[in-house]
Amino acid sequence: MTNYPHLLAPLDLGHVTLPNRVLMGSMHTGLEETKDWNRVAEFYAARARGGVGLMVTGGMAPNREGGVFPGAAGLFNDQDIANHRVITDRVHDAGGRIAMQILHAGRYAYGPECVSASPIKSPISPFPPKELDEDGIEKQIADIVTSATRAREAGYDGVEIMGSEGYFINQFLVTHTNKREDRWGGSYENRMRLAIEIVRRTRAAVGDDFIIIYRLSMIDLVPGGSTFDEVIQLAQEIETAGASIINTGIGWHEARIPTIATSVPRAAFAWVTKKLMGKVGIPVITSNRINTPEVAEDVLASGAADMVSMARPFLADADFVRKAAEGKAETIAPCIACNQACLDHTFNGKISTCLVNPRACHETELTITPTEAAKSIAVVGAGPAGLSAAMTAAERGHKVTLFDRAEQIGGQLNMARVIPGKEEFHGLVDWFGTRVGDLDIALELGRDVSADDLGEFDEVIIATGVVPRDPGIPGQEGSNVLNYIDVLRGKAPVGERVAVIGAGGIGFDVAEYLVHQGESPTENLDLWREEWGIGDPAETRGGLAPEGPQPEAPARQITLLQRKSEAPGKRLGKTTGWIHRAALRMKDVKMMGGVNYERIDARGIHISQGEARENPTLIEVDTVVLCAGQLPERSLADALEARGITPHVIGGADVAAELDAKRAINQGTRLAATL
Ligand code: FAD
Ligand code: NAP
Ligand code: SF4
Repeated sequence: MTNYPHLLAPLDLGHVTLPNRVLMGSMHTGLEETKDWNRVAEFYAARARGGVGLMVTGGMAPNREGGVFPGAAGLFNDQDIANHRVITDRVHDAGGRIAMQILHAGRYAYGPECVSASPIKSPISPFPPKELDEDGIEKQIADIVTSATRAREAGYDGVEIMGSEGYFINQFLVTHTNKREDRWGGSYENRMRLAIEIVRRTRAAVGDDFIIIYRLSMIDLVPGGSTFDEVIQLAQEIETAGASIINTGIGWHEARIPTIATSVPRAAFAWVTKKLMGKVGIPVITSNRINTPEVAEDVLASGAADMVSMARPFLADADFVRKAAEGKAETIAPCIACNQACLDHTFNGKISTCLVNPRACHETELTITPTEAAKSIAVVGAGPAGLSAAMTAAERGHKVTLFDRAEQIGGQLNMARVIPGKEEFHGLVDWFGTRVGDLDIALELGRDVSADDLGEFDEVIIATGVVPRDPGIPGQEGSNVLNYIDVLRGKAPVGERVAVIGAGGIGFDVAEYLVHQGESPTENLDLWREEWGIGDPAETRGGLAPEGPQPEAPARQITLLQRKSEAPGKRLGKTTGWIHRAALRMKDVKMMGGVNYERIDARGIHISQGEARENPTLIEVDTVVLCAGQLPERSLADALEARGITPHVIGGADVAAELDAKRAINQGTRLAATL
């Protein structure tokens, strides 16, 4: 008897039966652009072996003008078809099924050739699109249909037609971006025409025994977005036009509401998909922030959808479904929705991977093989660097002892997890704990290790992390000055008015921690929807609440300071920085750059501005919190070196600048893969 009867139930699509209700949603990983087809194939085959019901590839451009960026991959010729055959053959050999997403970006295409319904530039692209004429629209439809027939030739089991997230098809649907007066604009019947014609002609071209998923924007989260009556009408027309499945799209890319970040509650939008249930006869998939089998099962059991889409969780763990089916859900590496190694990489032009699983998209290069010469290995520090090194070494058959002076594993992750909106870090630390237990690692907590303790080991790995940087501000020894560790570990009370010194990741997190009180909105969907102004698309166009965002009053009055003159928070995550900045602005946090810290006294902090130290000002506060960066904790490494022992030094102990858990885990894993 399984714990996940709904999740693991087969789904009959007529010509094919999927073994379970799990779709691996489309992700642009950048792998296709490497043209290393063995590598791409192995990425998908690993997920097929892991038991996922159906996978969707990253978006493939139907033509040059519709590519998300110049040079975006697509099936343009026979060679492309042959290359993609490598993927589909490998997936089928592994017992899996795979559909290719066709993504026409319309005005989101990052290039001067982009096209759309009307020549209205998007707020997230510098390129105004060309307005298509009748022939131009016919060409786009034909190119999409050709792309689908080529996908079939390449061995795909189906296609997903991307009709949401504000891309090309979505741009025709709403008056916000479609100002046309011909048969493709004006009435909703006309605006739907493009979507319907694409699905109808695709079905006619590919035949009946081919899956067509249509990704439909169910809540646009932009002004002038669709109403839910329009969503239902479109879904019904799409079914009639020949789609096999409807998948849920949430929010346009230009929407200023977070939809997949870690601070978004789990399954935050399943209620939207549920509104469509019973309105169409084909299966409906829900999506966004579903990251455990329990959440997925609950969503399905509540009747919110017929199937769930999870994308990033399959970067974190290729074997998600298999482990759930085997009753080992606690061993699934959790996607914490951080975007740090996946979407942030994509938007920085790098290949995606995963903070939790550095092997994602590196399956052919980062291999973890059994060792031929087992060694005794000491790992000092059970933060993410030490944990990853210990786990990988133990997996390979080494005898590992993992020390930490703290009474719990996790290192700084134990501070990250108390930040409202970062609750997912609890799951990450729990998963590390499960793995350490399963792998038979000798865990020695509460052990402040010195060089004397390490003489007997074959290899020593130092992962002792960091110490807070001392900013050396006159007066910082006063009782009104705390550092972030004191605050986040609850060691000292914090006053009503607070100045935070340092606006890096930790400064922002500390500010977030201090402005909140009571329940975290991430754990209370109603509160979170109020905070961001998410209404019901059945009542308000696009699902934007008429009253706008209604955050709770801030618990404290915060001023966030940095010396650099750039905008505070500019260096935060590419795809999540805006959320942190918006969240703090909603709580009236004052952010100041370009300041000098002159001194701290009982009244607060005295600052001046710029190199000339102008505008001396006192910011009156009760508490000053130091978040001025970190330095490597190398004392143990240095002591060993002084004795002629050369340890491996990883994580913050190695380099503290720009350190994050992604680098710590990657470095720990890669080191241990070679020992
Ligand atoms: P640490 O996590 O610092 O672990 C070092 C460990 O070594 C500690 O447990 C310590 O007790 C132990 N130790 C030290 N000396 C000894 C000794 N002599 N004997 C025994 N044990 C010893 N990163 C992200 O990627 N994303 C985030 O969202 C994020 N948010 C954060 C939020 C906060 C509030 C904080 C503080 C950090 C956050 N980070 C985040 C940063 C991330 O936690 C660190 O980059 C990461 O933990 C560094 O890993 P590490 O293993 O090198 O060191
Ligand atoms: P950080 O991002 O490097 O920020 C340090 C801050 O301290 C900066 O604002 C810096 O700004 C200031 N500073 C540096 N030297 C100073 C000095 N001598 N006096 C006063 N201020 C000084 O480091 P962090 O905030 O400590 O975070 C540590 C690491 O954890 C980061 O690398 C980060 O990636 C990671 N982290 C990530 C997240 C995430 O969400 N991804 C969240 C938290 C932490 P000025 O020099 O301009 O004053
Ligand atoms: Fe999930 Fe973060 Fe990994 Fe992306 S990098 S898959 S968001 S854990």
